[in-house]
Amino acid sequence: MSENAYDLLIRGGTVYDGTGSPGAPADVGIRDGVIVAVGDIDGAGNRTIDAGGMSIAPGFIDVHAHDDAAILGGSMDFKLLQGVTTDIVGNCGAGVAPMGDRLMPGAELVLGSGVAPTWSSFGEYMEEIDRSSLALNVGCLVPHGAVRFRRMGMDARAPTDGEMSEMRADVAEGMEAGALGLSTGLIYPPGTFAKTREIIELARVAAAAGGIYASHIRNEADGLLDAVAEAIAIGGGAGLPVHISHHKASGQPNWGKTKESIELIETRRDQGIDITFDAYPYVAASTVLSAMARRPEAADPDSVLVASVREKHEYEGKTIAQIAEMLDLPPADAVRRVLSEEPQAIAVFFVMDEADVRRVLGHRLCMIGSDGIPSATGKPHPRLYGTFARVLGTYCRTERLFPLEEALRKMTSLPAKRFGLSDRGAIGEGKAADIVVFDPETIEDVATYEEPRKHPAGIQYVIVNGQVAVDEGRQTEARAGELLRRS
Ligand SMILES: [Zn+2]
Repeated sequence: MSENAYDLLIRGGTVYDGTGSPGAPADVGIRDGVIVAVGDIDGAGNRTIDAGGMSIAPGFIDVHAHDDAAILGGSMDFKLLQGVTTDIVGNCGAGVAPMGDRLMPGAELVLGSGVAPTWSSFGEYMEEIDRSSLALNVGCLVPHGAVRFRRMGMDARAPTDGEMSEMRADVAEGMEAGALGLSTGLIYPPGTFAKTREIIELARVAAAAGGIYASHIRNEADGLLDAVAEAIAIGGGAGLPVHISHHKASGQPNWGKTKESIELIETRRDQGIDITFDAYPYVAASTVLSAMARRPEAADPDSVLVASVREKHEYEGKTIAQIAEMLDLPPADAVRRVLSEEPQAIAVFFVMDEADVRRVLGHRLCMIGSDGIPSATGKPHPRLYGTFARVLGTYCRTERLFPLEEALRKMTSLPAKRFGLSDRGAIGEGKAADIVVFDPETIEDVATYEEPRKHPAGIQYVIVNGQVAVDEGRQTEARAGELLRRS
């Protein structure tokens, strides 16, 4: 077996190297989990994949995942089968570590059930990831909400000096263990209780270790521009790159505001502050029902769909208007009833305008993040299964929002560079062998709001660290993922 020059040889496809360069015909040779040859290859492989008519790209990087618990031993079919080979977790300030006696509120449902934490510090959580049999690669952000909950509980006040230095130490410990940066979720308690100054202080700790600041900003609706300005001020104050998560303008009165928010970002970039953002390719958002039920931009009972609950499954897949009719209550009372029975209910909110989604997605600074919530039950937002295929099928091939090489750059080299993953996100000699082989003519998302648990079409092979994790469209037993530390 090992007489051959390559463990795996991919022949006859069109290689997109991830940098944004157009595709070119080439073979790819892999040995020991690394790409060792790209071009016209003579040698033989222990296995050869015929990629005739297919595109060959670096494995996709999901910069906005909430799979913090799902990755621990999970098959991760919903990500692998859309071509994702690296997940970045710890987003929106939410996560399962660090923790004291209990998880931060909401973590159990948002981050998947059946978690039995064996860790307390963030570094210990990362060690647990490292020991786990991972279906894909994982990078981590230290979530501010978890840090704050550990040290201050749900107190809506500024930290004392002592609490501040404990929180700094938590962030430093995570960064030393190899986290990629600090994340915040400034609409969710307890993150929302933090003033800008507190976040700058903690972001300085991430900055000292070479990390980035990723934020679910304080307001994505009427206060969008102020919230973007706050994120930029945190980057400027702490001296680190800023990444705005799932950039959007939420609620009809705010539609069109991404024009101004992007102008603001471009202006501040020209002044030397390093800012990027990500988006998912849908006009509907999704989060806990409690987070947005009280927000005016999500008040239309026809625009809010209950996605996942624990027990009252009859609510799942129904709008608030439909539930109100079912319960014979006014919509506001129906929301209160659902929340009293299902405090952790997750909902889908149709709050965005297609023009904003296209403007954000199409921008050169935008990478792709699914924001998928791997809930155990119900009808999760279809982005969990469909994001990457939807960008390639709908927005690239059908709508021609960008050429294929640019769509792929947004999923590969752009995020790899941003999150400090130097051996990922590109096809080239010496790079880790994370690869997707897909048909550019047929790739498409199949998941819908009604039937979200559907894997995309058109993805034939997914290679993780040189091992075939998806073979002719089917997931294998391979568990070749690795914990990725900041490089
Ligand atoms: Zn978020």
